[in-house]
Amino acid sequence: MSRIVHVNGALLPEAEATVSVFDRGFLMADGVYEVTSVLGGKLIDFDGHCRRLARSLAELEMQNPHTDAEWLQIHREMVAQNGVVDGMVYLQVTRGNPGDRDFAFPGPETKPTVVLFTQSKPGLAENPQAAIGLRVISVPDIRWGRRDIKTVQLLYPSMGKMMAKKAGVDDSWFVEDGTVTEGTSNNAYIVKGNRIITRPLSSDILHGITRVAVLRFAAEAQMEVEERPFTIAEAQAADEAFITSASAFVMPVVEIDGQAVGTGKPGRVVPRLREIYLEEMRKAAI
Ligand code: PMP
Repeated sequence: MSRIVHVNGALLPEAEATVSVFDRGFLMADGVYEVTSVLGGKLIDFDGHCRRLARSLAELEMQNPHTDAEWLQIHREMVAQNGVVDGMVYLQVTRGNPGDRDFAFPGPETKPTVVLFTQSKPGLAENPQAAIGLRVISVPDIRWGRRDIKTVQLLYPSMGKMMAKKAGVDDSWFVEDGTVTEGTSNNAYIVKGNRIITRPLSSDILHGITRVAVLRFAAEAQMEVEERPFTIAEAQAADEAFITSASAFVMPVVEIDGQAVGTGKPGRVVPRLREIYLEEMRKAAI
């Protein structure tokens, strides 16, 4: 089935959905994005994604082309047009097409480019990987210093995924100055007893929307949340480990650099957190 794609307000069959070669998103990765999950035809944590989008745009001095209400309507239109039950809505805003290549930002006459498309993933929440867990390797974090901005500059995260693939595992965890920053496309956590440990927010990591919700649910479930960096050795010796992202939700990590975490199988805490997350987010979906 050919998708209907949104390009600057127009709904087009995907084969007809194009942007200029002079678009700064294409030439300079000068753009930001968001991925919102859809479960049962409804958007998960939409307000969180909208808030982060506004922040990413503001940090890069880009205009926000829509109000939150307009973004919601556009997202809903994408879900409806493409008949998405379970899946994702991908949204990208770039600094637009100034008509030529120049390092300097263009003036206000250049309007942002807005693109949205959907990805249908039937049974997204029932991913069988959740029962098995992920195996990860550690790789150096050589990304730029503003990882809190969700830019489309994803070459090194792609390379991180490829390093994992070549090593025969599922993903990579980035390490900087001896501690884990985050996964290639997810936030990283360990569990020790009743405590969840994860790196505090800073420009070192993306401020995950799923992270906010999961830490809240953990606290509500009487778990302690400790926001501090941790090492690979500490993670390997932890009871459990996991990642979070808008499309993987909460996913156990059962092996790090060839060493089993805990029993090498998903433990008690992480599957429970996944359950709570999915249950609560489905209830609040819009
Ligand atoms: N860190 C990075 C580098 C990511 O790409 C993502 C996924 N967008 C996350 C963390 C998780 O963020 P979220 O929970 O908002 O999907």
